[in-house]
Amino acid sequence: MAHQTVPNQASQPTPARGRHASQTAMPIVQLRGVTKVYGGDEATRVIALDNVNVDIFEGQFTSIMGPSGSGKSTLLHALAGLDSVTSGVISVAGIEITSLGDKALTHFRRDNIGFVFQSFNLVPTIDAEANIKLPMRLAKRTVDATWMGQVVDALQLRERLHHKPHELSGGQQQRVAVARALVSRPAVLVADEPTGNLDSTSSAEVLTLLRDAADQLGQTVIMVTHDTNAAAIADRTLIVRDGKIVNDLAKPSVDKIAEVTR
Ligand code: ADP
Repeated sequence: MAHQTVPNQASQPTPARGRHASQTAMPIVQLRGVTKVYGGDEATRVIALDNVNVDIFEGQFTSIMGPSGSGKSTLLHALAGLDSVTSGVISVAGIEITSLGDKALTHFRRDNIGFVFQSFNLVPTIDAEANIKLPMRLAKRTVDATWMGQVVDALQLRERLHHKPHELSGGQQQRVAVARALVSRPAVLVADEPTGNLDSTSSAEVLTLLRDAADQLGQTVIMVTHDTNAAAIADRTLIVRDGKIVNDLAKPSVDKIAEVTR
């Protein structure tokens, strides 16, 4: 059997590509014994995460795949501090987020996580530039103009900065969302089905941007997807099934991912 099953084990680091290629990557996200149960009574109880142990490494692009209902979103939301867990410990960038209260968790997300969602989540009444700067504005942080310029150029958005979201294509809107996530230099960029609403050309563009963010900026990227081609762009793919990580694949091919998710 070609399937390599790694149930609930924190795996060894694989070297990251790009800037960190010659270094051994450090864990930036650590989950230990993480369980999430929805519903109180026996009849409605769902174990969405079942004793998950995993390390995710700095500067790497990690994709998370699995069938619908397997627990991918719950895993991503838990490690991004968007959702609480029932038991276990999650640390991100040296912060044990599972012991934080609501206010501290809000600050944690603001200071450490960049979000890219399937639905772009841009504010429709303001232009691309204002959308990109909005999270920094809300956090009363100064936008580093040089960095902003680099991100805008890398994402080829300079000509579009004064357009409102409805004046942009889906691919351009998602590029604005990626810029918004990168501009605060988050410890971790989390992307939840970022290509789910895009045509194949725009999907490829957005995936290349996320790949480049890891390679050229050393940005840690964690992406949930149900698309095998999207997953295969990562350095590492975690396969989730019934709330457990059942496969942990280093630089997987599309064929390999298809084989283990069949
Ligand atoms: P995936 O992202 O892989 O599709 P999810 O993480 O969304 O899976 O869901 C994992 C399991 O938890 C599913 O059985 C789902 O029905 C259940 N679940 C998710 N959110 C809730 C919720 N708010 N209340 C009850 N059950 C939920």
